[in-house]
Amino acid sequence: MKDNHSLFEAARAVIPGGVNSPVRAFKSVGGDPIFFAKAKGPFVYSAEGKEYIDYIGSWGPMILGHAHPDVINAVCETARHGLSFGAPCEGETALAEKVCARFPSIERVRFVNSGTEAAMSALRLARGYTGREMVVKFAGCYHGHTDSLLVKAGSGAITLGVPTSPGVTAGTTAQTITLPYNDVAALESLFASRGEEIACVMVEPIAGNMNCVIPSQAFHDTLRKLTKKHGALLIFDEVMTGFRVNYSGAQALFNIEPDMTALGKIIGGGMPVGAFGGKAEVMAHLAPDGPVYQAGTLSGNPVAMASGFATLTATERPGFYEELEQKTRYLVDGLREAASATHTPMQFTQTTGMFGFFFTDGDSINGLDDVERCDVERFKAFFHAMLRRGVYLAPSMYEAGFVSITHTTDILDRTIDAAEEALRETA
Ligand code: PMP
Repeated sequence: MKDNHSLFEAARAVIPGGVNSPVRAFKSVGGDPIFFAKAKGPFVYSAEGKEYIDYIGSWGPMILGHAHPDVINAVCETARHGLSFGAPCEGETALAEKVCARFPSIERVRFVNSGTEAAMSALRLARGYTGREMVVKFAGCYHGHTDSLLVKAGSGAITLGVPTSPGVTAGTTAQTITLPYNDVAALESLFASRGEEIACVMVEPIAGNMNCVIPSQAFHDTLRKLTKKHGALLIFDEVMTGFRVNYSGAQALFNIEPDMTALGKIIGGGMPVGAFGGKAEVMAHLAPDGPVYQAGTLSGNPVAMASGFATLTATERPGFYEELEQKTRYLVDGLREAASATHTPMQFTQTTGMFGFFFTDGDSINGLDDVERCDVERFKAFFHAMLRRGVYLAPSMYEAGFVSITHTTDILDRTIDAAEEALRETA
């Protein structure tokens, strides 16, 4: 068996930074990223054979826990009949019907291969549909690495310290306006001055790429009201929240009907799937029905569709989301008690299946500025102290945590005990 460091060195010799997505690197916490060999339920197992309780869940898709038998069977069974046809198959329609049934705002949906593609394509369609160019996004929200949306983006883009990446031209981002998240006054003033130029507003309805930040109902109500009034489309990027925070996504929680929705992660159950959808009238502008071009060789391939279908089906049993909410609440309540027992100033955020913890003595967490004020050194120390205790948290304080349905009370208790010890050790 190779030791982790050798595996990382071998990877670095052929892959930039040794990783195929920067957020996997341990850049902001230090040390080598852990190589994993397998995963089951709430656990991931390193190549060196160590077991970790996983709160990353492949950054969101693994809501059922890892290697759920229904999903693995569906993938294996479907794969026997061929991996991709580059032509329609029934699995696409089956998954599309499910998406439309669960999201009343989606009448037509197009599958792609990643969340990045979903957001990028939704943006193009919004521009094509409205004939306008400006896109509004919010500081700390991440919509994938599309050039025009890589402005004050969250996730790995923050930890790398390149809010606007080199290689993204000024021309590309000239039509991107960034506002502070969760700020009603900023929205009102922008729309008052430039409302008629705006093609769309793209928003993470609950932010998960600057840790977990839950905006106010007033923010969402204002966003819906102003976009409608000025003829701009409202795009909910539910790549992270869709099928996680509620049966019908964050739009159901906030009772907002967006014009378009971008989906990813859970929709593929671990296979590369993204999707964007909305009202039939808007989606009719997409090729081949309409003039806005978008395409994909592997889009809608049968194996990925089967994985997504089996995953969504398993989340549809009665009580699934209530149970997931209870588990998340149990964990966060326990962590809060651990913070108080150790006199550690901390803040917590929580929704169904998703949570955030913040080393700060400030008040509530409303946006990127609040997250940036947190104690990064304490986070690093805590992260490593948890890792030593077999708990795998996101290696950056700008990421949300994810709970799966397989995280039992026993596992959550082990996590909470580990956290109390880790807080004492790092005080
Ligand atoms: N939008 C959101 C809200 C996301 O969280 C992510 C990924 N973390 C993306 C878009 C991009 O998805 P992908 O990594 O699949 O391209």
